[in-house]
Order: sequence, then structure tokens, then C-alpha cells
Amino acid sequence: MEDCIFCKIIKKEVPSQIVYEDSQIIAFKDIQPAAPIHILVIPKKHIPSLINLNKEDELLVGQIYTVINKIAEDLKIKEKGFRVIVNCGKDGGQEVEHLHFHLLGGKQLGEKIV
Ligand code: AMP
Ligand code: ZN
Repeated sequence: MEDCIFCKIIKKEVPSQIVYEDSQIIAFKDIQPAAPIHILVIPKKHIPSLINLNKEDELLVGQIYTVINKIAEDLKIKEKGFRVIVNCGKDGGQEVEHLHFHLLGGKQLGEKIV
């Protein structure tokens, strides 16, 4: 999508600190980290939000979780633990309309609501 900031990151039109990339998925550091480790894992395909996922995306979502596991291992937070968050829509607090999985760790995370 032309004016999507994450699509621009995928196309390297906007700089980012990439920690993982393959043909379908890219992961980079969040510009405003909420924890010592705060990575955004996104599909390269422009999917606006969780509600726009289709049956054909099931494998892709599974692959995203595999990538999250790999990054957690690479960044050495697998043993201590981490949190994965997907904000969806207005009430969910989603600000960027390109599906993204927040990977947070590196400290005891607070504000646990569930
Ligand atoms: P959300 O509120 O779930 O939509 O999360 C959007 C996230 O994208 C926020 O945590 C922002 O800090 C992050 N973000 C926005 N622009 C950039 C950027 N150019 N590079 C890295 N992270 C970004
Ligand atoms: Zn996009």
C-alpha cells in the first residue's frame, strides 16, 4: 500500500532496524520501545488488521509465530519469557493499519490485564 509506513519499511524506503527477514515476513525494532526488547513482526503482504485475515493466511500466521520463537531465542529472552500482543481496531488501540505482532521482553512486564 502506497502510504502505509510498514509497507515503506518493507520496501526499505523508510529506515528501520531489521532483526529478521525472509520472503514473507520482516521483523524490526519498534521506534518507541515499551520494553528493553520490543520487536514488530509483520507479514510483507499488506493485511490491514487481524479482522482482514483470510483462510489463505493461516499458514502465514503460523509462520509468524515460528519467527517470533526464533527471534526470542536469538535475543535470549526465550527462557525468561516474553509477551506477544496484537492490537486490533479502535478499542484495541491499533494505530498502524498493517497487521503487526508486538514481541515484548527483557524485563518483568507490567500492566497485565489478562
Ligand atoms: P499499534 O499501536 O499496535 O498499531 O502499534 C504500532 C507500533 O508501531 C507502535 O508501537 C509504534 O511505536 C510503532 N512504529 C510506528 N512507526 C514506526 C517506525 N517507523 N519504525 C518502527 N516502529 C514504528
Ligand atoms: Zn502496509
